[in-house]
Amino acid sequence: MAETVFSKILRKEINARLVHEDELCIAFHDVAPQAPTHILVIPRKPVESLAVCNSDDKALMGHLLDVVRQIAADLGIAADGYRVVINCGANGGQSVDHLHIHLLGGRAMTWPPG
Ligand code: AMP
Repeated sequence: MAETVFSKILRKEINARLVHEDELCIAFHDVAPQAPTHILVIPRKPVESLAVCNSDDKALMGHLLDVVRQIAADLGIAADGYRVVINCGANGGQSVDHLHIHLLGGRAMTWPPG
């Protein structure tokens, strides 16, 4: 997988405002937040996108979602609700080619997305 800004954050070569770290993933504030709370959860494993995950990654994907749920509770956005987004590939609007889950909250979201 090609080097990305998220690889540099994982190696601590670029600063990020971390909210969670464990053996499988890290989570940090998005540098250009689209909501009052905007967190990215990324696996340590270099996976380019959801499209290239396979059945070996099932436990990892479950873990990432569990971490999203925990962070939403810890940051106090769970009661009012929040949105979880994975942009995948060009049509999905993915701009960083390292799998990441967006957690957005702190305001009411609209639908459909752009
Ligand atoms: P996506 O468009 O789904 O690939 O999302 C990539 C996200 O990464 C965007 O919301 C960017 O604002 C965010 N991002 C890019 N560089 C950084 C960085 N250095 N620190 C935190 N978030 C970043």
